[in-house]
Amino acid sequence: MLSLLQQIVQDVGGARNFAEALRLMVSEVRKALDTEVCSVYLKMPGRGQYLFAANEGLNAESVGHATIAEGAGLVGLVGERAEPINLQVASLHPRYLHMPELGEEPFNAFLGVPIIHHRRVLGVLVVQHREKRRFDESEEAFLVTLSAQLAAIVARAEAVGEMDGLFDAERPKENQRIQGLAGAPGVALGVGVVMHPTASLDMVADAQAEDLTVELMAFDRAVETVRNDIRRISEQFAQSLPREELALFDAYLHMLDDEAITGDVRQRIRSGEWAQGALKNVIQEHVRRFQQMEDAYLRERGTDVEDLGLRVLACLQDIRTHKDHFPKDTILVGEEITFSMLTRVPSGQLKGLVSKRGAVNSHVAILAHALGIPAVMGAVDLPLHRLDGRSLIVDGHYGEVYANPSTDLTSDYIAVAEEEREFAEELNELRELPCVTLDGWRVLLWVNIGLPGDITRSLDRGAEGIGLFRTEVPFMTQDRFPSEEEQRSLYREHMEAFEPRPVTMRTLDIGGDKALPYFPIAEDNPFLGWRGIRVTLDHPEIFLVQARAMLRANSGLRGVLRIMLPMVSDVSEVDEAQSLVRQAYREVADEGFNVKEPLLGVMIEVPSAVYQARDLARRVDFLAVGSNDLTQYMLAVDRNNPRVAGLYRDLHPSVLRALREVARQAHIEKKDVGICGELAGTPSGAVLLLAMGYQVLSMNATNLPKIKWLLRNIKRRDARRMLLRVLKMDAAEDVRRYMEGELIAAGLGRLVPSHFDRTAG
Ligand code: PEP
Ligand code: MG
Repeated sequence: MLSLLQQIVQDVGGARNFAEALRLMVSEVRKALDTEVCSVYLKMPGRGQYLFAANEGLNAESVGHATIAEGAGLVGLVGERAEPINLQVASLHPRYLHMPELGEEPFNAFLGVPIIHHRRVLGVLVVQHREKRRFDESEEAFLVTLSAQLAAIVARAEAVGEMDGLFDAERPKENQRIQGLAGAPGVALGVGVVMHPTASLDMVADAQAEDLTVELMAFDRAVETVRNDIRRISEQFAQSLPREELALFDAYLHMLDDEAITGDVRQRIRSGEWAQGALKNVIQEHVRRFQQMEDAYLRERGTDVEDLGLRVLACLQDIRTHKDHFPKDTILVGEEITFSMLTRVPSGQLKGLVSKRGAVNSHVAILAHALGIPAVMGAVDLPLHRLDGRSLIVDGHYGEVYANPSTDLTSDYIAVAEEEREFAEELNELRELPCVTLDGWRVLLWVNIGLPGDITRSLDRGAEGIGLFRTEVPFMTQDRFPSEEEQRSLYREHMEAFEPRPVTMRTLDIGGDKALPYFPIAEDNPFLGWRGIRVTLDHPEIFLVQARAMLRANSGLRGVLRIMLPMVSDVSEVDEAQSLVRQAYREVADEGFNVKEPLLGVMIEVPSAVYQARDLARRVDFLAVGSNDLTQYMLAVDRNNPRVAGLYRDLHPSVLRALREVARQAHIEKKDVGICGELAGTPSGAVLLLAMGYQVLSMNATNLPKIKWLLRNIKRRDARRMLLRVLKMDAAEDVRRYMEGELIAAGLGRLVPSHFDRTAG
């Protein structure tokens, strides 16, 4: 059964278009269950009806025309209950609806299962037969399992507007709404530029070509580029490479000239596939053939074919990604947006980003936030190949993307963007003013930093120090570990710019979702694995070089250097790190540098550190909560996984209680306590943290002015009253609603996102 199921899902997923996918779906299900009828009914968005969208066994002419009201018939009942209905004789059921145009009179048994994606019923899959017998349990289970997998295909079709084509080809495909998660706030209007990670054949989607000539030309150009590259490399290394390697280049050229591969790809493009899909299918076919060969030498040649395919694919992707040309208002779109993709867009031209993967607290979302770029993450149904060059609106408040927006929707969003720009300008006036509450309580607002350009952005917004330097970011853009001198010079640049303000340098925090291309860490559970301090304690040479670079960078400056340890889960890690920092300090001092002893701090990011906050505080100079990870580990919700993003609640009562506990323990030990997770930059979070006694709120530069405005307009006394109320609540949603209500009542509602009625989509 399992292989049958996988086969159907694979066949349907590989269909050229949605209509074909539906046809395959009904035909293969009918065969698999050996039943007489199989149909798919799809909900038509905004019409309150199901469309008889695909069928085998009933009246073929009604496909694409017959409809049933959402509340009517057995199909309506399956949708309403969102569960299967299995009947021996359908016509005896009180909800049975006779639809003469379908011709279903001869059929008695009925099994309908809902097609559900992300809790939404998208349609109903039905099988029927003449015999008066209920479908048995295994048949029902099979259909339910299959339907759950097919739901993603239906959802994708809905997202790309292919469903519209089934019932109304004339309808203009404006305002196609794609739902994702709010990644970084703000709205952006621009043109989609789809970027792909390093080429991988498996990740290429099967899709139809929109314009055959364009696809053929792109393919020919890519082949030509690869051919020229190979010739160039072969000539360049003619003297230095061994003969076998040079022979491989000849073999590649031969394969490109030989029509066997390129001819097959062109053939598939002519029959309607887009170039990348055609290439993938042909290469994989050839590789399979090679792999089945008896001869070991020939089997190996499969690898060469694959390698060649990857080279052509990379060129095709470069052609599509307009590598050298970005529109002035680029919206970066991708399966997964990486840090290096962000940096490829010239500064000032990147206006928004949309990623299929990731969630609110993924590192790329945090970076987008820091850059002030609206982002939508986890848009799982994103039709990547259709968004390139399309006009897009990114709504980072609500996690929505609109493709091909109407003029009305565009002007609504232009108005929102304008309002946001005006508010930001007003906030500029607070730049030089301290962050003091109405009743005189001083809070330090520092910045989280790491990207190029962050220094100016932070100082322009009045940052009073660096609360978190994510040192791994510069490590991520290199192709090897940066040397001590390279690190020193980068850190020095920041310390000089912030002089005499304090600078908090976090030691390398890799692992989890932060990979270095030259230091791969492959693990089943990377967030519970070799991460942060665990890596650097196992590699003292990396730790020591970094600590030395930090100390030397601070040499002769007045600003305080604070070194902070990430992902600490045990006191022994602090003890070991402390002795390495001391060793680095002694070495640097012995070498004659004018260095001061740094302050040492621990990040509280895992539950064990919460319960030992006092033991940790006793050992070091300060504590800083990394609430992004702390929330992830307390709630056991992967901060990167869009499927569980709804469970990632930064105002969860357990998280709030943990935060208060950490502050209390630090206060008992008379140590400074701060926070550098995203929570500090949210209005509700900032008010509650103020109440708990956090002295330092460190956040991205974009949020800083808003939080300063908020805290300057509130009394700590009121914040404490809110905290006491909130600590009695048992649901994050209640906390959020209560806090937003309080902010609105205090006249601070501008910070609570809400704008025009977006029913246009
Ligand atoms: C955190 O976990 O809250 C934090 C500040 O660190 P990062 O987001 O870089 O993991
Ligand atoms: Mg962290």
